[in-house]
Amino acid sequence: MNLNEAYKSDGKSLPIVEEFYTIQGEGYHMGKPAYFLRIGGCDVGCQWCDTKFSWNPELHPLVDTDIIVSNIIKCPAKAVVITGGEPLIYNLDYLCKELKANGIEIFLETSGSHELTGQWDWICLSPKMSMAPLPAIFSHADELKVIIAKETDFKWAILNAGKVSKKCKLYLQPEWSVSKEIMPLIVAFVKEHPEWNISLQAHKYMRIP
Ligand code: SF4
Repeated sequence: MNLNEAYKSDGKSLPIVEEFYTIQGEGYHMGKPAYFLRIGGCDVGCQWCDTKFSWNPELHPLVDTDIIVSNIIKCPAKAVVITGGEPLIYNLDYLCKELKANGIEIFLETSGSHELTGQWDWICLSPKMSMAPLPAIFSHADELKVIIAKETDFKWAILNAGKVSKKCKLYLQPEWSVSKEIMPLIVAFVKEHPEWNISLQAHKYMRIP
């Protein structure tokens, strides 16, 4: 499946980069045990992306969605984080319907750059300047997580915070490779703007995937 085919996918099979049981390391649900499903394919092109290996869906095996669901429901946590890549490249209605039918709590990590499909218990919107979110997703976001790699990213954070609902949790997360340099700026910003919180990639400190 190439990217053009991915956009038209019915979601009955998906290219899977990796799947594993771990602890959510980021954002509002940090510390929560969950199954992670990384779906291949992304056209957003973030320069600092730490999952560039996921961009090309053709490099990852197409797996029948029923098999994906059967793997997830065996997980003791009964919760799954769907990530990528950009998972919304695909129509995720079928995946979510089958997971919900099996009582699984479903969390989405997305840049919001493609149409929202699927039914979600939690949507973490991480907007990227290289391909901005579609306007329709903002009202659905439970959590806004903006990656801060340089000083100008604070403006991007404020711009996107103005579009989400009042109940949406706001997080700034340092880009890992510059986190030492950027962290003092994030700390100062959050102290000035206490509606924001800091998200750390805690799984990297825990040395787990
Ligand atoms: Fe990487 Fe996510 Fe950006 Fe895609 S949206 S390039 S997977 S960080």
